[in-house]
Amino acid sequence: MVDDRSSMVVGKFALQIFGQLAQLGERGPHTTEVTGSIPVLPILLDSALLMQNELSLLIQLQDHDAHIDGLHEKAEELMPLIKAKNQKAESLKSALKVSKDKIQTQQLKRKEMEAEADGKEKQLQKFQAELNSLKSNDTYKAMLGEIEKTKQALRKIEDDILSVMEAVEKEEKEYKEKEKQVKAEEARIQAEITDLETQKEKILAEAKTRLEERNTFAQTVPAPLKDQYEAIREKRGGLAIVPMVNNACGGCRMNLTPNKANEVKKAKTMLLCENCSRILYLPQPDSSAAPSSPPIVSAPSN
Ligand SMILES: [Zn+2]
Repeated sequence: MVDDRSSMVVGKFALQIFGQLAQLGERGPHTTEVTGSIPVLPILLDSALLMQNELSLLIQLQDHDAHIDGLHEKAEELMPLIKAKNQKAESLKSALKVSKDKIQTQQLKRKEMEAEADGKEKQLQKFQAELNSLKSNDTYKAMLGEIEKTKQALRKIEDDILSVMEAVEKEEKEYKEKEKQVKAEEARIQAEITDLETQKEKILAEAKTRLEERNTFAQTVPAPLKDQYEAIREKRGGLAIVPMVNNACGGCRMNLTPNKANEVKKAKTMLLCENCSRILYLPQPDSSAAPSSPPIVSAPSN
């Protein structure tokens, strides 16, 4: 399907070509008497030459664009790598923080236990002070029992405190080791990130230089032709001009009618694929602008 915009631009372009041909024609019919006159047949040949020249300009322009697109893609491909490395560094930091938090929780627990032990000791002192003032044998015995129970509870708390202290000491040692490893790993990852970012910057700088070259070259392409190229390129995934391969469109692979294939071979006018609207050209076996294995892209839905 040929879209309206493309047809319009083709029309404009055709007018320009005819204008150029008309100018050639204005030199007058070829006669042996008049110097500088040109024969009618060469005018027709000129139209093919002009078209081939225009197609060649577009192929070169597309080569520039494909190169720049490739560089941008290459730079984009680095982004997930950089992101993954940043995430890795973050997860290392988080793991370290989890260990740190665990130690702090244990230390908090220890403080609570120490406060509890303090309470028990005070209770014990109080009980022992009360013991001497007790008159009856029963209350005295009951108090002794309370004192023994409190002593046992205190011993239990002190044992627990010791266990927590040992655990914290062990964890702190492990944490220090882990922290050392994480710092080294982080430094390594950071160096890799810097390296990737440098690569990306280099690629983008090259893309910028190439774009300047491309824009300089683009000035040699007639504006209507360039507009048409840009419009197709935008709609067709960056590929606006494609070779005819085995009488099929090199872009969407749609077979061309024998008539169309013939016209592409003659290359007298701008010919578009009826399916994907890309500009078609006949690859020249000796031309560097026509790769032997042209890129085949899937046709986007129309
Ligand atoms: Zn096509």
